[in-house]
Amino acid sequence: MINQNHDIHGIGMTSARTRDRLVQRLKEAGIRSTEVLEQIRNVPRHLFVDEALASRAYEDTALPIGLGQTISQPYVVAKMTEALLEGLESVRVLEIGTGCGYQTAVLARLVKEIYTVERIPELLKKTKRRLRQLDIYNVHYRLDDGWQGWPKYGAYDGIIVAAAASELPEKLLQQLKPGGRMIIPVGPSGRQKLIKVTKQNGRYEQLSLGLVSFVPLIHG
Ligand code: SAH
Repeated sequence: MINQNHDIHGIGMTSARTRDRLVQRLKEAGIRSTEVLEQIRNVPRHLFVDEALASRAYEDTALPIGLGQTISQPYVVAKMTEALLEGLESVRVLEIGTGCGYQTAVLARLVKEIYTVERIPELLKKTKRRLRQLDIYNVHYRLDDGWQGWPKYGAYDGIIVAAAASELPEKLLQQLKPGGRMIIPVGPSGRQKLIKVTKQNGRYEQLSLGLVSFVPLIHG
């Protein structure tokens, strides 16, 4: 009998059925955007985690990626992407907290350009390589403190932050276009809220999208 498990990129963990199950789960959890669900199906999440964890890549759960960081839970990535892009087309997005680049990859085919900022050089280097291997070329990378944003290419239609801030970062608010929105977790560990901030007539309207759990957005 043929052992079907010996190839780690083999049929078991990457099969269409495994991915469909994840998509079905996200639908049941309330994700409506067919474009976002399609990207969750298409992006090979098993290539963003260590081989030892690859068999768990299509579970709806956050996983460790080393250096004390995590790959975000697919539901949260889908939810944030949906909230970021709702009603927008062909946009330029600033992303803070590149990490392994999973969120970046989900976004890449839904937007025009992504400007992504990460403070850990080893992660950024690996992620650049990984996204190029996936033929993703509309991403611009910067090693820096995300609290500063990336003013040179702003203002942005959307800003997405993948680490929890202690308060709304003033410099990121300044880099939002009129009508633009920022999706950001805010608050201390254990009490973080996912917030959607919309810049409307020079004011910032805030909407809470629920409780989340992210690593902190580090100062400096
Ligand atoms: N987007 C990733 C998850 C990233 S985890 C995914 O799709 O799975 C959060 C990331 O934010 C980590 O890589 C961490 O190094 C980074 N980070 C934390 N504080 C930061 C800061 N001040 N500036 C830039 N990146 C930061």
